[in-house]
Amino acid sequence: MQDLSNIVGGAELQDRFSRRFQYLRLSLTDVCNFSCSYCLPGGYRKQKGAPPQLTVDETIRLVRAFAALGVWKIRLTGGEPTIRSEFLEIASRVAAIDGIRKLAVTTNGYRLPERAASYAQAGITAINISTDSLSSEKFREITKHDRLSEILDGITACQQAGIKAIKVNTVLLKGLNDDELADFVAFVKDRPISLRFIELMRTNDNSAYFERHHLSGTKVTDMLEASGWHQLPRAIGAGPAVEFSHTHSVGRIGLIAPYSPDFCASCNRLRVSAIGKLHLCLFGEGGYDLRPLLQSDSMEAELIERICGLMVHKTPAHDLHNGNSGVTPHLASIGG
Ligand code: SAM
Ligand code: SF4
Repeated sequence: MQDLSNIVGGAELQDRFSRRFQYLRLSLTDVCNFSCSYCLPGGYRKQKGAPPQLTVDETIRLVRAFAALGVWKIRLTGGEPTIRSEFLEIASRVAAIDGIRKLAVTTNGYRLPERAASYAQAGITAINISTDSLSSEKFREITKHDRLSEILDGITACQQAGIKAIKVNTVLLKGLNDDELADFVAFVKDRPISLRFIELMRTNDNSAYFERHHLSGTKVTDMLEASGWHQLPRAIGAGPAVEFSHTHSVGRIGLIAPYSPDFCASCNRLRVSAIGKLHLCLFGEGGYDLRPLLQSDSMEAELIERICGLMVHKTPAHDLHNGNSGVTPHLASIGG
């Protein structure tokens, strides 16, 4: 191993606006087996000439470099990260890297009932499961898969496997699931999980869909506040989600509202795509290729220097308000 103390020297990743980054969202693949209507409505299609995804060794080198820069939380995402054949190998090797204290995954819940225990064994301690409806019919309409009961069983399997932090991600969709807000609230009443409503984001591929189905997160806040939910104080270093609790509910409700003012002020995350590009913003222009520096362990110092140098390019905020979603065709392409 190289001595990196001259380069790292206890440094942290920070941008020009004093935002600190200790959280990396790492896409393992852009492939997905679902066809969510707001993300990949026609299903996944391989792009001609697209480079192959990072190998396991490249991935591990990447995470080691970020860990040396103070990143301690990694989220594996995609596409659907769990369909990658080396998923468990990657998870267990990432979890074992010095400095990594929390390994999370975001999944569509595919085959979760039989796989939850192996995820926990690999070192995954936090899981976000996407469920946009609690009605089987609507779930099928949104994802094109009749798998709601499998996903609900998967949530129970995660609890039984001892995964402590379980979240359900629900994209708010006007005319599709906005009549289910009360059902979602009831769902967490006796379950120790946190349900996160996510405002639909405009991407390059979904503008017409966005116009039809975007719903402001204020509908959720108004409903929660009117029924006795209280907004929790934001923890230091917490990300942009706002969380609510209620004395009569075991579970919590969160809201991710990217169109709200100041959403980006608390940005605490960086992203690397499945082909090794660093994305400083989910809706930025292109990405910065780290792959050339992932070819051997001996390149770690150079890789760390490059990552630090790139932080200067992080912009204060996305430009979604002006309908500009950067180069992002859909969130599966970068890792949402
Ligand atoms: N396939 C996995 C899943 O669905 O959980 C991980 C990747 S997916 C891109 C990550 C999260 O982004 C999911 O919760 C999904 O619902 C959300 N998402 C995808 N496209 C979105 C959009 N346009 N606006 C808001 N959320 C979106
Ligand atoms: Fe696949 Fe996730 Fe996109 Fe749905 S949201 S199509 S599960 S990547």
